[in-house]
Amino acid sequence: MAEHKKAANPKKQPKQGKAAKGKKGKKPVVGIFSFTSCEGCQFEILDCEDDLLELFSRTKVTHFPMGKATNEEGPFDITIVEGAITTPEEARKIKDLRKKSKFLIAIGSCASYGGVPAIKDFYTEEEIEVPVYHSTKIIKSIRADGIGHYVKVDYYMHGCPPNKCEFLTVMKDLLVGKTPRQPDYPVCKPCMGPITNGGCDSVCTDHKIPCTGCRGPVEDATIDPLVHLYEKMGYTHDDIKRFFMGYAGTSKVFSGVVGKTCDIYEEKKSKTASKEKK
Ligand code: SF4
Ligand code: SF4
Repeated sequence: MAEHKKAANPKKQPKQGKAAKGKKGKKPVVGIFSFTSCEGCQFEILDCEDDLLELFSRTKVTHFPMGKATNEEGPFDITIVEGAITTPEEARKIKDLRKKSKFLIAIGSCASYGGVPAIKDFYTEEEIEVPVYHSTKIIKSIRADGIGHYVKVDYYMHGCPPNKCEFLTVMKDLLVGKTPRQPDYPVCKPCMGPITNGGCDSVCTDHKIPCTGCRGPVEDATIDPLVHLYEKMGYTHDDIKRFFMGYAGTSKVFSGVVGKTCDIYEEKKSKTASKEKK
């Protein structure tokens, strides 16, 4: 299913002109930092290969332990942060980093939401630490959170790992003095695939087209969540009825949504019948 780009809401976007540029005539200073993570986001940056060389030639990367032997501690025009905050020391460090950064990017799910490290938040310390460290006294961890829990973030580059094209686009925007636009639209339109009889080889969804349910509903389909999703996305009751009417509107499962149309049909039928009687 294709990405569904609704009109961007300018109110949600940072003000233009806030983007970090280097001091007049100087290359922007960039720092890449890592907190609790698998470091896969940094590998994704390295995987930009030729584009990365071009990008690095237009910036001054002063902190990037994965790619540099010597590293400086700022200040930075652009700071890119990977990983979740899981210790008091990391919480202190991210606050300090914010003070030294003009434009702060959270890169990846760990920095955005806590990501994989935050799975530990659903277990007790005993459950999660004792099997590995034989004690709860070795790791001094706190609840795992994204960096936005502690500091203001200027751009969230979501994903695990994030998309390198998005990384390059965001960096390119910043280098030309443009504030990158945070995507505020969902990946796809609601699709009827999860409630539709299979066997079509998912021909539509495989070609980035949402399933419209042409093969009719699976017998035990639960349609309420999909109806609520359509409602949340602003579709009217009539729109929603039309989605379910398309191919199997009179089926037992879909007629619950298309009911009104069926009622109209029944009304028409009874009016015709009473006219005929007269
Ligand atoms: S977001 Fe994914 S790839 Fe990036 S550090 Fe976390 S687990 Fe690794
Ligand atoms: S619309 Fe029909 S052919 Fe397309 S994915 Fe759905 S069931 Fe398959």
